[in-house]
Amino acid sequence: MTPTPEPVIDLHTHSNVSDGTESPAELVESAKAAGIDVLAITDHDTVGGWAEAAEAASAAGIALVRGIEISCAYDGASLHLLAYLPDPDDEALMCELERARRSRVSRLERMVDLMAADGINITYDEVLAQVGTGTTPGRPHIADALIVNGTITHRDDAFVEWLADDSPYYVSHYAPDPVRAVELVAEAGGVPVIAHPYTRTRGEGVADELVEQMYAAGLVGLEAYHRDHGPAEVERARVLAGRLGLVLTGSSDYHGEGKHNQLAEHTTSPEALAAIEAAASGVTPVLRP
Ligand code: AMP
Ligand code: FE
Ligand code: FE
Ligand code: ZN
Repeated sequence: MTPTPEPVIDLHTHSNVSDGTESPAELVESAKAAGIDVLAITDHDTVGGWAEAAEAASAAGIALVRGIEISCAYDGASLHLLAYLPDPDDEALMCELERARRSRVSRLERMVDLMAADGINITYDEVLAQVGTGTTPGRPHIADALIVNGTITHRDDAFVEWLADDSPYYVSHYAPDPVRAVELVAEAGGVPVIAHPYTRTRGEGVADELVEQMYAAGLVGLEAYHRDHGPAEVERARVLAGRLGLVLTGSSDYHGEGKHNQLAEHTTSPEALAAIEAAASGVTPVLRP
């Protein structure tokens, strides 16, 4: 008997409802073409792509995990929290996301003002033209405007200096504290997992002490298998997850043309997905064909 191949599970991707470049339906079609069996859509700070992705997943015959990647802030550092299967009608969580999205708008305008004042060829109108209706605005949309007006050729070019966290043009936006965000996700019946905790461009990464505090608040997992992690970072996640009893996940963090990440370049085991499903309240189930 031939063994059944393991399902291909990619639990972190973006559509153009945040800073990906494909619509939710296109993202699902790309995932199907890449051989993905279970896809999570995790746009930044929004559930706005869920309905379109659900319809497309049903048509494509692949499973869909509805999620969010929530930007959090603490001590001047940023942390991304994946929230799987939360209730999209949970008022406290949705209020917090709305507050973050609103703050992202004014923040982008301030960044563009600073850049333009310093002689960089950019206007806020050019940036707005890159942000769709209902889209969570982010720094990549400034990069997109710079591509359209011919200043650069890829988003990466803008992130080298102008858009980086330590750039003089960087402006922060409102973002919840990570422990509070874990509580909100758990209270909404969802499953909190820290995205790429040890991204190397962000210093030392998330301190063990903070992970422990988040664990006490209901954290379920760490995203270990991700292009921003090398072997040392994967090992660090493994050791900590083993000590606390956290689930390890993996993903592409695909952004369409906006990043080099390829769908399913890292994946999650069926056991880890089962643990995530078991930890969810069930109000937002995994959609299966
Ligand atoms: P923001 O959410 O506005 O703070 O912008 C951060 C987002 O920019 C991240 O979620 C990434 O998707 C994206 N990003 C960061 N670095 C790069 C890069 N070098 N090239 C393209 N996109 C990037
Ligand atoms: Fe992004
Ligand atoms: Fe992220
Ligand atoms: Zn992401």
